Amino acid sequence: MTTEKPQSAKLLYRFDEGSAAMVDVLGGKGSNLCEMTRLGLPVPPGFVITTKACLSYFELGHRFPSGLWDSVRKGVHHLEKSMGKGFGSLDNPLLVSVRSGARVSMPGMMDSILNLGINDDIVDGLANLMGDTRPAYDAYRRFLQVYADVVLGVDHDAFEEILARHKQRAEVTQDFELDTDQLRAVIADFKSVIRRSAGQDVPQDPWEQLEGAVEAVFSSWNNPRAIHYRDYYGIPHDLGTAVTVMSMVFGNLGPTSGTGVLFTRDPSNGDREVYGEFLPNAQGEDVVAGLRTPQPISELADTMFQTHRRLMELAHQLETHYGDIQDVEFTVENGRLFLLQTRSAKRTPAAAVKAAVDMVYEGLISREQALKRVEPEDILQLLVPGFKAGLDSDEVQANFLAQGAPASPGAACGRVYFNADDAVVAAGRGIPAILVRPDTKPDDIHGITAAAGVLTSRGGVTSHAAVVTRGLGKPCIVGCEGVQVDLERGLFIAGGRTVHQGDHISIDGATGNVYLGELETEQVALEDLGPAQALLRWADETRSLGVMANADTPADAAQAVVMGAEGIGLCRTEHMFLDPRRLPTVRQMLLNAEAAEEWRREHPGLFGDPLGVPHLPKNVRDFYLALARVRGFQTDDFTGILRAMQDRPVIIRLLDAPLHEFLPNYETLLTEVAELRARLSGDKSELQEKEDFLRLVDSHREANPMLGHRGCRLGLTYPAIYQMQVEAIITASANLIQQGVAVHPEIMVPLTVHVEEMRRLREWLTSVAQRVQTDLGVNVPYKLGTMIETPRAALTAGELARESDFFSFGTNDLTQMTYGFSRDDAQGKFLGFYTGEGILPADPFATIDPDGVGALISGAVAAGRKARPDLELGICGEHGGDPASVVFCHRVGLDYVSCSPYRVPVARLAAAQAALADRE
Ligand code: PEP
Ligand code: MG
Repeated sequence: MTTEKPQSAKLLYRFDEGSAAMVDVLGGKGSNLCEMTRLGLPVPPGFVITTKACLSYFELGHRFPSGLWDSVRKGVHHLEKSMGKGFGSLDNPLLVSVRSGARVSMPGMMDSILNLGINDDIVDGLANLMGDTRPAYDAYRRFLQVYADVVLGVDHDAFEEILARHKQRAEVTQDFELDTDQLRAVIADFKSVIRRSAGQDVPQDPWEQLEGAVEAVFSSWNNPRAIHYRDYYGIPHDLGTAVTVMSMVFGNLGPTSGTGVLFTRDPSNGDREVYGEFLPNAQGEDVVAGLRTPQPISELADTMFQTHRRLMELAHQLETHYGDIQDVEFTVENGRLFLLQTRSAKRTPAAAVKAAVDMVYEGLISREQALKRVEPEDILQLLVPGFKAGLDSDEVQANFLAQGAPASPGAACGRVYFNADDAVVAAGRGIPAILVRPDTKPDDIHGITAAAGVLTSRGGVTSHAAVVTRGLGKPCIVGCEGVQVDLERGLFIAGGRTVHQGDHISIDGATGNVYLGELETEQVALEDLGPAQALLRWADETRSLGVMANADTPADAAQAVVMGAEGIGLCRTEHMFLDPRRLPTVRQMLLNAEAAEEWRREHPGLFGDPLGVPHLPKNVRDFYLALARVRGFQTDDFTGILRAMQDRPVIIRLLDAPLHEFLPNYETLLTEVAELRARLSGDKSELQEKEDFLRLVDSHREANPMLGHRGCRLGLTYPAIYQMQVEAIITASANLIQQGVAVHPEIMVPLTVHVEEMRRLREWLTSVAQRVQTDLGVNVPYKLGTMIETPRAALTAGELARESDFFSFGTNDLTQMTYGFSRDDAQGKFLGFYTGEGILPADPFATIDPDGVGALISGAVAAGRKARPDLELGICGEHGGDPASVVFCHRVGLDYVSCSPYRVPVARLAAAQAALADRE
């Protein structure tokens, strides 16, 4: 063995020298074993080789740093003394386990070797100690198998084949049914396959075995699956792993031995009762292999009463000490209990929330600790349905078809439909439908509302389907490239399987997973949400950032209040226009808008109701009639929303969408007109109307509608529409004020690029609002501000602030325009590749890009506040519900975030965590 120059840092700690605080150097497993030893708990003696030693090993080109091996020898001698056994002794052998353990838990990703220190002769000494030859030979066979695999790189399938052959010969089905002689024959075959494949034997010298094992565990930090796991979870690659060497204790020595795992609380629901399993006369691997069914931990009390009682005491002590649910591995060797590992238990979202809140009530942890312990996304999981069987269950896994981007959480199952009309028909018959499309368009809205869930093969997390379903609280997956939709044949292909219209699928909008068949869903019962409510109350007391909701209807608004929203940060009015009962009126309005505008320009100074003007041209009359009807339903909409929100602020955005979104499809119209023309007889007026629409649709067709005639450009070119919307807002507010309801409407102008747009709109819309107030004799307190959605608006925010009471950052468009990535197309085309390859660290439509978009926001915040210190600042893009973006918004000093109602609790918790991080 080669070593290098002396190292100053200590490279090895005995269990009695370390503590939980040393997790960086000793890894999670090692530091917890030290902590338990320090507490005087029954841990077999051992030591930990530090992560620093691992990193030095890599730096030195796979050589042990100087002094490491001496320390290891001393460490082993210490074990010999503590155990009264000898490493390599023939009659009283000490065996050890050698395990990996990084700072962050990476379950199953790196290697571990058990029963090390055994060889052809020692196996008989071990048999004497155990009082039985079979477990000793079984230990030897397991050691050879694992060592050859991990250290010598022999393919483990070779061992499985040998075992299978011997079991067949012995006419048994389970490994543990092989007797000593049969195990000897297995071992002989193992040795020859090892020599053949590796060109060498497993060393007989225990010290040589140990050296090989430590090197292999170090190296397993860089095995492909560990690297992949770190990439996936964003764990840094330069942490290294510690190596824990611990005396083996045996749970397979007879009826008073055994091994098991326990959780100090139920990890599925957080109930305060020890939950776990025990397998008598077995080693840890047997539990993992699942060949024998373990018994519930409570039954241990029937056979080993004292051990059970001691175990319960230890479980309680560990949980109290760590202030968290522990996942504990233990072994009983001839009636003597040993703890082999403790760590924070993995748990379901429901258990995470309940345990954190219960522990505050029990005085175990503070409210702040509870708030920090729960992942904001976990809160969301509680509020939406999940699969009953659980995501890890075999049933769920076996049906997996594909994974897309999780756009709107919740689990749903239903029959597949490929167009909105079919989904509506199915839903009308009580058949739950999943709408599957390449992407969705505004005129699919009826299908989306009728469906139980939506799946699209294209589009990102701010695509149409994603935004609409999030608002509706409906499960949705977008950008699912693994699903190849064939609309013509009415099928899709995914994971090599073909799914036809009418077949059942299940989708999980929280993970983005699509499954074949019907997976039963369930929702956490209302009474179980008590702990979540308590946690969110504490979050509200802690955070400084406001949390509002994006809501377009009175029902959404009511839902937002239930979720704890302090107001509405974005009410998108175009969604109100798309209601199929209203669309014909909206289209009448648009059809004649151009003519009406021309007529109005020719009659300047006309302010009152043009419908009273004599000899009004028909198309102008039609326009104003339609406009009056739209004003009527808009007034009803705003009345409903303002009433639902009571005295909370409601920010209403004036029309933003390009007008073609409200018009019939161009290609469809073209075909219809051609058909009508081809018929010799027929209704001429129908043809006339379709031709008019065709001309209109054609005139609104744009190559880049997202960068085209939309936002406040519409308001300036078709002033009657914005005027009508402001009249509706002020009328609704005035009526409510007269009924004694306090209202706080805020009128928001979308997609501004230049201060002159805002200056003109402000002057004119203020005069409209003033006129309505005068007419109705009511004073309405309102604000008028703008969205910051374009880079130019952000860069000239100081000027815009002079004309605005508030800014709301529309980070969907701002991201789209800053990157020059189409928000509807990027995900399916290249964004997945970009994030997968690490070209971009994250999807910028999901999490705010702090350096680009974030820099525009912080610059705009500073300039805006400078120009106008009382400027109200918030964000209403989809980022408002993303925990990492919420932290950004807190840091940059926004007043509030606004997100879909279901994400409001996530934002509340994330905002509290941001505030706590700030205080620290
Ligand atoms: C935005 O652009 O961030 C926004 C909220 O507007 P929309 O998503 O409706 O374009
Ligand atoms: Mg926008």
